[in-house]
Amino acid sequence: MAISCTKCSRQYDVMLFQFGRTVNCACGERVWLEHRLNLPLDSEIRFFADVNVASVVRWLRAIGLDTVWEDAIPDDDLVRRGAEERRFVLTLDKRILEEFRTDHVFLLSTNEPIEQFAEIIRRFTIQQPTELFKRCLVCNTILRETKVGQIAEQAPPSIREIHTKFQFCPTCSKVYWEGSHTQRMREAIEKVFSE
Ligand SMILES: [Zn+2]
Ligand SMILES: [Zn+2]
Repeated sequence: MAISCTKCSRQYDVMLFQFGRTVNCACGERVWLEHRLNLPLDSEIRFFADVNVASVVRWLRAIGLDTVWEDAIPDDDLVRRGAEERRFVLTLDKRILEEFRTDHVFLLSTNEPIEQFAEIIRRFTIQQPTELFKRCLVCNTILRETKVGQIAEQAPPSIREIHTKFQFCPTCSKVYWEGSHTQRMREAIEKVFSE
């Protein structure tokens, strides 16, 4: 199957348009095939964050959303992996929307992570979860509950004295407990959902 340029009728192989990729025609026109994924807008929603929106990732993971981020991933791979893994791609890069005509790329409009977070919550009508911090903020893995004896080296003695409940990441070994840092995040998240 061939796709024709609407201006000069030059033909391009359909394989060139995978994952919403557009083609720059020799005549200067951009040629594309509309790419639709129809990703679900419910609790199954998953994201692939571009390198330029790294700071919003932990906020999404904090409310339990499965969010992948990879350092230095090329645009092609980002959009392709997003399509293959059925994840919405989050980016600040307008060029991605020009290069790819696909409905699984969402362009964020602000540089501020918490405002990006609010923008995503509104756009995808995400409901406030009853529980936070079920997913590792560093690596996206679902956390496991653990006892103080099992995480002795990872938490300082002052923390081990006052806390009994810890969460542990089986992938990157990071240990989490309820502290001033999680409290600040809880308050910020609460604020975003109440606005
Ligand atoms: Zn053309
Ligand atoms: Zn982890």
